[in-house]
Amino acid sequence: MRERILAVDDEPANLYLLENLLTEYEVATARNGEEMWACIGDFNPSVILLDIMMPGKDGFEIAGELAAHETYREIPVLFLSARREPVDVTRGFDLGAYDYIKKPFDGDELLARVRSALKKSSERIKLSMEVIIDAATGLYNRRYLSDFLERETGKARRGLEVYALAMIDIDFFKTVNDTHGHQCGDFVLREFSGLIKKSLRSYDMPIRYGGEEFLIIFPSTSRLEAVRVIERITKRNTEHEYHFGKERIVFTFTCGVADMTDISHSDDIFDVLIEKADARLYLGKNAGRNTIVSDDDGRL
Ligand SMILES: [Mg+2]
Repeated sequence: MRERILAVDDEPANLYLLENLLTEYEVATARNGEEMWACIGDFNPSVILLDIMMPGKDGFEIAGELAAHETYREIPVLFLSARREPVDVTRGFDLGAYDYIKKPFDGDELLARVRSALKKSSERIKLSMEVIIDAATGLYNRRYLSDFLERETGKARRGLEVYALAMIDIDFFKTVNDTHGHQCGDFVLREFSGLIKKSLRSYDMPIRYGGEEFLIIFPSTSRLEAVRVIERITKRNTEHEYHFGKERIVFTFTCGVADMTDISHSDDIFDVLIEKADARLYLGKNAGRNTIVSDDDGRL
């Protein structure tokens, strides 16, 4: 996939020039801040080239807005300006710009600076992924979960978004470790996590919650739909052959499911969902394991 660069400049001739220079990238153009904000979400740029002198909001002001934005503040901004005074350059860097390129610019130099910014952008993405991904399984970690809860709790409370939630625990995982060793246990966790991931939709969120415990958050999903997904995981897990060296490992899991119909008037929607799903998981464990429980009577 080609990397995406968003160029903001009020002069069509400048945008034309940039488009012709940056042919190896996917380029979107905007003639002012408004147009930039209108396309930034869908276009999802890796780097922004920003003119300073524009009618309406100038580039400094727009950079300030970007810097204050939760989602976009990390995108490297390169100012591109005919304002060559040190005071302008200084102000640009003070606003958190990655670079400041004076117009008229040399094409090769601009390309080199863009490459450098893209590198910084991809390093940032890699780092931010490392922080939220559980290295052993490739699923999201608890840190991701708490960030997500912080972001989404308000929305769910206002009824803007509905969720189903599933808590999964591998049955007799300790026996796997005790019988085949911890390396085998790690293998099972990794392999099973991959199977969970493959069974989900792109917007579902699988999280490694604890040792052999997994939490899945399903946006815009009912309990019944979530149960169908878990059933798919059960089926795949039964069919999947876990081979560790010469050993074939067979295991089951138990799952508790909850959704928004379990919430009455609580402020802590996710606390309740997690609590409910967890309690149902344990109902399933007590009922003999290898099952999915989605109500408080221990039924599917
Ligand atoms: Mg201008």
